[in-house]
Amino acid sequence: MKFETLLLNFDPAPGDRCRPANTPIYQTATFRQDSATSFGDFDYTRSGNPTRAVLEGQLALLESGTRAFCFSTGLAAITAVTRLLKPGEQILACDDLYGGTYRLFSRILANRGITVQYVDFADENALKAAFTPAVKLVYLESPTNPLLHILDLAKVANLAHQHGARVCVDNSTMSPYLQRPLELGCDIVIHSATKFLCGHSDVMAGAVIVSDPALADDLYLIQNGEGGGLAPFDSFLVLRGIKTLALRQNQQQANATAIAHYLKQHPRVTDVYFPALAPPEAAAIHKRQASGPGSVLSFRTGDPELSRRVVENCKLHTITVSFGGVNSTISLPNYMSHASIPEHLRSQKQIPHDLVRISVGIEAIDDLTADLDQAFASS
Ligand SMILES: *Cc1c(COP(=O)(O)O)cnc(C)c1O
Repeated sequence: MKFETLLLNFDPAPGDRCRPANTPIYQTATFRQDSATSFGDFDYTRSGNPTRAVLEGQLALLESGTRAFCFSTGLAAITAVTRLLKPGEQILACDDLYGGTYRLFSRILANRGITVQYVDFADENALKAAFTPAVKLVYLESPTNPLLHILDLAKVANLAHQHGARVCVDNSTMSPYLQRPLELGCDIVIHSATKFLCGHSDVMAGAVIVSDPALADDLYLIQNGEGGGLAPFDSFLVLRGIKTLALRQNQQQANATAIAHYLKQHPRVTDVYFPALAPPEAAAIHKRQASGPGSVLSFRTGDPELSRRVVENCKLHTITVSFGGVNSTISLPNYMSHASIPEHLRSQKQIPHDLVRISVGIEAIDDLTADLDQAFASS
């Protein structure tokens, strides 16, 4: 079956006697047992809940994994993965990560005796040289946000496996509709389901998807043992959002492609960052490992004040952090989503002060370009 069909073709309520056509919100903390000594499939919602289980089954299927685990936020999902490491072990991370991930790695993991080494993964020699016996997890995003750098997932997975490390990909900017890292040899996929999976900016959620059964057992112990599993109502919302994932992303991507070209020819724009407009080598890697450019893009004007005015003069594009929702949003990453990056790393990472990020929604393209037109004109 094709991906678009898989999004809809699943058992919404396995074993439910009422045979509902959609997944109910099993809003219960506890489940009755047949006897004091026998357990059914569910006993306590922290350990497992039917609504969450349907969502997890869907995500495992869509990411070509065997099991998925949903958490209260994307960062809770990332935290769960870091629990796989022991004190003294190291994470080798690409040097262009989501701001909250930097904060977790640098300000919280250090206290647990886990170190993180940041490397430019596009520099193959630097990446090879960075492996030490302590490196147990290699962590990356592609395309990165907000600069849309592309990394070769299969190549990184190969290198990591040669050095006995697992590879984890934060796939939030793409979603499984456009990119499936497990199929490329990676071991763990993470999502901020708050973004494209939910798609409506009305729920916080995270997910971890794996193929290896032993790894899945470890992650289940962490989910149940630490208690960060996604609540039934939030699971329902993500499940409902996922049904239109392909439909939304098709429209968002078409709009984003048009806006990227609009910005590229705009006299007041100096650079546009979008996977389809990346330098040829990077664009080729992206084309090989993903089926589309997505709908997050960024651009520069050469003037931080001009960028700020354009952002603030937009009327249809709302100033909001986050991305992946059906509404178009605009932001200044250096001041907003990436302000959580520790200053010493931010200067090294160099998110330009004039960088503007747009997460393109499903509105009519003419209205979106008209909004940018008037924003530039009045800036
Ligand atoms: C938003 C985001 C996260 C964090 O997810 P939350 O749901 O906000 O906790 C992690 N990674 C990426 C790439 C993100 O964009």
